[in-house]
Amino acid sequence: MFSKKRIIVSAVASIAFAGVGAFSTQFGTTAIQEVQASTWVNQYITNNNIKPVGIENREGTFNRWSGYRNGVGRPEGVMIHETATPNATAEAEVSYFNRNWPVLQTYVHAFVDANKIINIKNTDFLVWGAGPNANQRYIQVELCNVNTPDQFARSISNDAFYTASKLIQYGLPFVPDKTVVTHRQATNWWHDTTHVDPDGYLAKWGYDMGQFNELVGKYYSNLKSSGSVDGATAPQPELPSDGSVVKREGKVTVTNPHSFAVPLVAFREDGSTTDSNRGLAKESGWYTDQQRSFDGHVYYRVSTNEWVQDSYSSFVAW
Ligand SMILES: [Zn+2]
Repeated sequence: MFSKKRIIVSAVASIAFAGVGAFSTQFGTTAIQEVQASTWVNQYITNNNIKPVGIENREGTFNRWSGYRNGVGRPEGVMIHETATPNATAEAEVSYFNRNWPVLQTYVHAFVDANKIINIKNTDFLVWGAGPNANQRYIQVELCNVNTPDQFARSISNDAFYTASKLIQYGLPFVPDKTVVTHRQATNWWHDTTHVDPDGYLAKWGYDMGQFNELVGKYYSNLKSSGSVDGATAPQPELPSDGSVVKREGKVTVTNPHSFAVPLVAFREDGSTTDSNRGLAKESGWYTDQQRSFDGHVYYRVSTNEWVQDSYSSFVAW
């Protein structure tokens, strides 16, 4: 779907990018035109090794707890908005909506700017972001307006990360225009509101949803395969050789070519292991919160005192 576009992108990227360095310090008309004709944002994120910040979960004041049309914890995707409020940071928007949502009758799940991703409502429950049809289906995230190209690129990286993370959290596929949608699309589909964000704001920076979706798709597949947006597995610090337990959260996927089950062990007081009488189904994924080393192997904890050996498992940190 994007292959044709990608060819055009790579053809112009290197030329267009030469103008970006000047643009980031010099905010002139010529530079804006140059940027609008380019696809500099995703390239700038890659070239400058821009990484998204983490998601801060700070439950806000919105005290309604309604599930989506498919139920609590069953959103169908992420809807992208833009605040249309110059100079308002994510932090400022969060305080404003936490104070005023009862009057405004508006509340979203998260605000994103160049420096922060602040999630203010548990995304298992719906919010009031774009009219009843959209609210019943989608997680709602607002992109805050920023002032420089560098800030814009960082805010886009954060927005794409939030979007990809939420799709993965809810086991949703990445399908542009279906699981990643805009307020403009909601307006076209259901006419509950008249808003057409975020397209105009993105266009101001020479950006569009096609390019945004390319970035979301990249983050989505990298996060799924390696747990990081750039596809690199983060180096894990060595575990202590004395066998002491290290707290390290992630997902452990287990397999066993020799049996239908994967063996578990328990640790005795003296640090030695004993076989558990239970096992894990092979090809299954488990939450793990602790690790320890014993006899040349890493063990991942999957319940109170049940551990799976690294020979049977692969670990991805959260
Ligand atoms: Zn909107």
